[in-house]
Amino acid sequence: MSIRFKVILPYLLLTLIVAITGVYVVTKLVADSLSERLTNQLLESGRVVSDGMARQEIKHIEVARIIAFTRGMGEALQNDDRGTVAGLAKPIAGGLDAENLILVNLQGQELLHLIKGPDRTFQETPGQGGAGNWPFVKTLLDGGDAQSLPQRGMDINPLNHRYYYYSAIPVAVGDEMVGAVVVGTSLDTLLSVLKSTSLADVTFYGENGAALGTTLAGQENDPAFLVTLSISPNLYRETLNSENIVSGENFTADGRWYSLARGPLRVSNDQLGAFGVILPLDFVVTSGAISRNTYIFLFAVAMIAVILVGYLISRLIINPLYSLVRTSQAIAGGDLTQRTGVRSRDEIGTLANTFDEMTGRLQERTAELERANHILAQMDRTKVSFISVSAHELRTPLTLIQGYSQMLLSKTEQDPSLKPLARGLVDGSDRMLDVVNNMLDVTRIDSKLLKPLFDKVQVDEIVARAQTTFEDALKERKLTLSTDQLDQLPPLHADPDLLYKAFYHLMMNAIKYTPDGGRITVSGRVVEETPGKPEAEVVISDTGIGIDPEHHELVFEKFYQTGELKLHSSGRTKFKGGGPGLGLAIVRGIVEAHGGRVWVESPGHDEEKYPGSRFFMRLPLAKAGAA
Ligand code: ADP
Repeated sequence: MSIRFKVILPYLLLTLIVAITGVYVVTKLVADSLSERLTNQLLESGRVVSDGMARQEIKHIEVARIIAFTRGMGEALQNDDRGTVAGLAKPIAGGLDAENLILVNLQGQELLHLIKGPDRTFQETPGQGGAGNWPFVKTLLDGGDAQSLPQRGMDINPLNHRYYYYSAIPVAVGDEMVGAVVVGTSLDTLLSVLKSTSLADVTFYGENGAALGTTLAGQENDPAFLVTLSISPNLYRETLNSENIVSGENFTADGRWYSLARGPLRVSNDQLGAFGVILPLDFVVTSGAISRNTYIFLFAVAMIAVILVGYLISRLIINPLYSLVRTSQAIAGGDLTQRTGVRSRDEIGTLANTFDEMTGRLQERTAELERANHILAQMDRTKVSFISVSAHELRTPLTLIQGYSQMLLSKTEQDPSLKPLARGLVDGSDRMLDVVNNMLDVTRIDSKLLKPLFDKVQVDEIVARAQTTFEDALKERKLTLSTDQLDQLPPLHADPDLLYKAFYHLMMNAIKYTPDGGRITVSGRVVEETPGKPEAEVVISDTGIGIDPEHHELVFEKFYQTGELKLHSSGRTKFKGGGPGLGLAIVRGIVEAHGGRVWVESPGHDEEKYPGSRFFMRLPLAKAGAA
């Protein structure tokens, strides 16, 4: 995961969690406050209904009083004078606010029964409505008290089978009660009045919780719908006994949601039943949904803004880091001109500045080194060309001296006293020619002009050739030269003459740096360091003075000598016999031209203990079937 995601991801997760929690909390708060408002409104509507009932009662009593106190009414009732009762009541009834007007005598017989029809005028109904048997009328009449307080009840009028809310007061003649006047308002009218004052739909419940009527959505007189609104007898009893209005359950009707509260329908101390006030839930649900959607939108916008800001911040932090990474990669790839370009004053800025300064210094040093290297290479070229020129220049006169000295040697038979002088001349010129040839070899190697002529070569044969060359020296120095498993080596793909030269120098060194009586061994084996690429490993070991580890690399450089020049013995194969320091450089040049490598292992230089040296040569084996 890239560092950008590592920075942004936790930040994004946190924002998401905060946003979701925020939306949840805010919408919950809104929903809670909305439903609280609804409950309050319901309770308020309930109180308005209760007040409305009380007002209706007052109206009833006013109407009843007007009738009861009409002059002659008491006497007419007392005398069961239907004609007079009707004659007195009917003219004034039309102007009174009532829908059912009944006058009963003390025995409970109806003397007048007026019902307001759909045309809003009173009609006298001939039949008996049985008002005298209604419990509250009966109580009033049975009491026989002219001063009795009004009684009230909810009953069905058998003449038109409609529910009415009634109030009854006594009618008296003097102190004697002679009957009662009952004033009623139909439930439908009452409900619609209560609805308009309470601003909520209203339902009335009668005995055992049966819904008697409702204003809910035009369902007033649908009995099936009323059944669905009815409540259980238990709940009805609970409602009757409760002091206050209690919020009830939510329900659906016609696909709309409603909330409801119920309360006891009481007027004075009379328990008339129970009522329910109903408010639609739509506005809670819709405003809840609207506010939720609004908050989700707001939080989404806020989240996008937060993510954007987060992205920008992460860019601010990470871009300098990316720049650092890119620059360091470019520098690791060798481009020292690259700089981070970060200019901030924070820790990353400091790091980038330090990094740029370091790169700057590295660039300067590299330039200095390149300059020095260039000068060194120039000098090396001059040295090589000097060697080359001098070697070439020396070679011709040397060949002449060699030729003449050999001629001189052949002429010394006449004068034997001159023989050692001539022999010295021959040996000296041979030696000089050797050095000059070595110098030419080195210049060829340096100028990459050494091109091996490959052939199949048996190492044991080459070593045997070199052994023959050094036969006298070995004898003289009492050195033992042995070979080990060289004849087991498969043939090499190499230039036989160059390989001879390499062995010549290595064996010559072994002879030179091993004290008299020492041992030299040349062993061979096949190794396979890289699978599928077998190599021949030839080791020339001696029991000589050894080489200090810090010189192990340097001895292969041209003109490099570990010993002091003045200590070198003069003979070519003498112990510690000096040389120009070219042998190992030639060996390395030849081995590398063959695609091999050469190195030395030795515990160190010690001219008392003679720890010895081991020169390793690894050369690729000839491929099977190759020439
Ligand atoms: P030189 O002509 O001096 O022998 P070389 O290049 O052959 O030059 O060797 C470089 C130096 O390495 C020698 O001067 C010598 O000090 C050291 N050296 C080479 N071979 C051996 C060896 N077998 N044992 C100890 N020292 C060695």
